[in-house]
Amino acid sequence: MEIEEFFRMDRWPNSYCPGCGNGIVMNCMYRALQDIVNLDKLVMVGGIGCSARIDGYVFSDAIHTTHGRAIGFATGIKLGNPELDVIVIGGDGDIGAIGGNHLINAARRNMDLLVICVNNWIYGMTGGQISPASPHECLSTTTPAGNPEYAFEFVKLVAECGANYAVRWSITHPVQLIKGIRTAYQKKGFRFVEVLSLCPTGFGRNNKLNEPAELYKFLKEKTYIMRDENRIAVNLDGKFPLGEFANRDRESYIESLKKIRG
Ligand code: SF4
Repeated sequence: MEIEEFFRMDRWPNSYCPGCGNGIVMNCMYRALQDIVNLDKLVMVGGIGCSARIDGYVFSDAIHTTHGRAIGFATGIKLGNPELDVIVIGGDGDIGAIGGNHLINAARRNMDLLVICVNNWIYGMTGGQISPASPHECLSTTTPAGNPEYAFEFVKLVAECGANYAVRWSITHPVQLIKGIRTAYQKKGFRFVEVLSLCPTGFGRNNKLNEPAELYKFLKEKTYIMRDENRIAVNLDGKFPLGEFANRDRESYIESLKKIRG
C-alpha cells in the first residue's frame, strides 16, 4: 500500500510543530502496517492531545473522543463488532494519566485492542505541564524548579496487569519500533506499544534543549536496549530500558467471551 493510500493527504500538512516526534511515529506506523492492514476493517480511536490527532490522518474509520476515554470508546467498538481491528493512539497524559484507569483494566481484561502510547513526557497541546510520565527533576510550566515526582512507567504496569504484549521503543529506534507495532498488530488480546518521543515545544523549550536534534540526542542517551536478564530490572542510571516486557498468548477477552457464551 502506497503512503497516499494509508494517510489522508488532503489533510496535509499536518498540525505538528517542526521537530515533533509524531511524524516519526506516523512514518513507523505506516511502515509497520502497510502490507498487513485492511483499512476497511480498521478503526482508529484517539482522545485529546497532539498524538491523539493521528487518528484523523489515517484513511480508515476514526473516532476522536473525550480526554482520557479513548480506550473506553475502543472497547465498546470492539465489543460491538469483534471483526474490526481497533487501534487506540494518544499521549502519556491522555492514555496513562487521565485515562489510566481504562488502561489498567483493559490490560487486565486482555481486551482485544492495540494501544500506541506516544510518551513525550509532557502535556504538549495544553501548554507543557508535567504528566505522570515526566522524568524526575525535569522542568515544565508547572514545575519551574524541577519535577519532585518519579515517572510512571506504563509499559511495566501494562505487562504486570496481564496484557498479551507490552513493548517500549523510542523514536530513536525506528527499525525496532516498526517491528514492535507490526508484532502487536498481529497478536490478539491487549497489546501496548509505548513510544518514547519528543515534544520540542513543551518539553524541549523548558529543559534547555531548544533544537530538535539536541532533544533527539538526549532521548537516545536516556535509553538502553534491555538484554533478557534485564527484563525486570529497574532503570539503570536513570535510563529507560527498551524492548519487550511481555509477549504471551493468554486467552483474549473476545475469545473468553465466545467460549463462555458458547
Ligand atoms: Fe508535537 Fe509538542 Fe508541538 Fe504537540 S506541542 S505538536 S507534541 S512538538
